[in-house]
Amino acid sequence: MLLNKLSGTFAVLAVTGSLFSQTVLAEESAETPTIFSAEMKATALELKDTAMEAGLAYELDESLSTEVGPRRVGTPGDRLGIKWAVAKMKALGFDKVWTEEVTHVYWERGEIEAEVTGPYPQRMTAIALGGSVGTPKKGIEAEVVEFENFAALEAAPEGSLKGKIAYVSYRMERKIDGSGYGPAVIARGYGALTAEQKGAVGYIMRSVGTDNNRLAHTGGQREDKGVAGIPAAALSNPDADILSNMIRRGQPVTFKLKQSSKRHDKKVVKTANVIGEVTGRETPEDYVILGSHLDSWDVGTGAVDDGIGVTITMAAAKHILDLPQRPKRSIRVVLFGAEEVGLVGVKQYLEKNRAELDHHVIGAEWDFGVGRIYDMKPGVGPQALNAIREMAELFAPMGVSLNAANDAKGDSDLSLLGEAGMPAVEFAPDGSLYFDYHHTDNDTFDKVDPEAMKFNTAIYTMFTWLAAESGVDFRK
Ligand SMILES: [Zn+2]
Repeated sequence: MLLNKLSGTFAVLAVTGSLFSQTVLAEESAETPTIFSAEMKATALELKDTAMEAGLAYELDESLSTEVGPRRVGTPGDRLGIKWAVAKMKALGFDKVWTEEVTHVYWERGEIEAEVTGPYPQRMTAIALGGSVGTPKKGIEAEVVEFENFAALEAAPEGSLKGKIAYVSYRMERKIDGSGYGPAVIARGYGALTAEQKGAVGYIMRSVGTDNNRLAHTGGQREDKGVAGIPAAALSNPDADILSNMIRRGQPVTFKLKQSSKRHDKKVVKTANVIGEVTGRETPEDYVILGSHLDSWDVGTGAVDDGIGVTITMAAAKHILDLPQRPKRSIRVVLFGAEEVGLVGVKQYLEKNRAELDHHVIGAEWDFGVGRIYDMKPGVGPQALNAIREMAELFAPMGVSLNAANDAKGDSDLSLLGEAGMPAVEFAPDGSLYFDYHHTDNDTFDKVDPEAMKFNTAIYTMFTWLAAESGVDFRK
């Protein structure tokens, strides 16, 4: 939070500084040299008005969450989502639309029953973590050992959890920039594997979420260090409170978990990255890339995660398609598949498109927040910062600051392309409410704010068009 506020202050200084140096230049010569011509800036402002009036992203997200709904990889909803996206992109008039196959293995959620069996028997609201194995048919019942966070679990001696259910009760902090997620999500990523290594027979954790609903948050486990062989589930925040209060009373608390989830590691499922192109009029082989992910979890309808990103990026491209002529460079809207299960779609995209990586001029992804963008952070070469500053001057009256840091890699999927060398911009929206809904039954269309959708689409449209119309080399 503090860091964020500080960088906001520097951002104001940076913008003011650049205005000042331009004033000095203007005194020296009649014409202020700018990277984007007055005409380009005027078109960008027209695109802003179009997006603010149209409300297209909101309409598209309503369509996606009503006609398709949840899109977990390998499910019928996932396949329907791909069909929906291809048909929609064609209907919107994209110059080219295609899919690139992505493969993954299947996981079955099954059913779950969780309860405290003693000394204060109560049912618990829980959800299986993605990739979890199930329990034996009659379930497991064992004493719970609580850890205040993942580090405490990691510090538990080898063998100390033999026959126990490990429980991490760390609560995620609500922050505008979502920075509470990292310290909390590690318990989801590696908790079960770590607990198993200490001898535990099961793993439960407080949901990674900021709400007080009696709804648990699902999400993937990391598998880069190995696959956990014990069942793993998350409790809703109120249930985690109840359980911790029971444990605090000092008597051993026993917990029963019955879970029929199942890994099908040999069952390969096919999904896809869906790509829509606006073909550039001068250098079509170079493209600005807009990312999001089309898959979602199976709870909720994925209207927020990442229906918002899918539809903002599609709408931004559509507004540019409606201009009298195409921009100089191409624009690729990539709806990645299988993001939720470990950035699988973008990994396969990178393998397939590595030879073309130099032609990925710059990228931006949306995979966070339901609020408005308030900050823009670049990750470009030092010379290209001048172009970023000029963009930021157009966004400043909208209340969007320019972050003083220049280390953006791109969000979610695009972060892998960013790490591989693609310049990127990260637009930070107000994420205060995001983790109330994230990966729950409550990720539904009513959470999508139509005015924020217009505003954010306007920013993405302006950014994308300026980057695609200019000849700026964002790597330099
Ligand atoms: Zn997401």
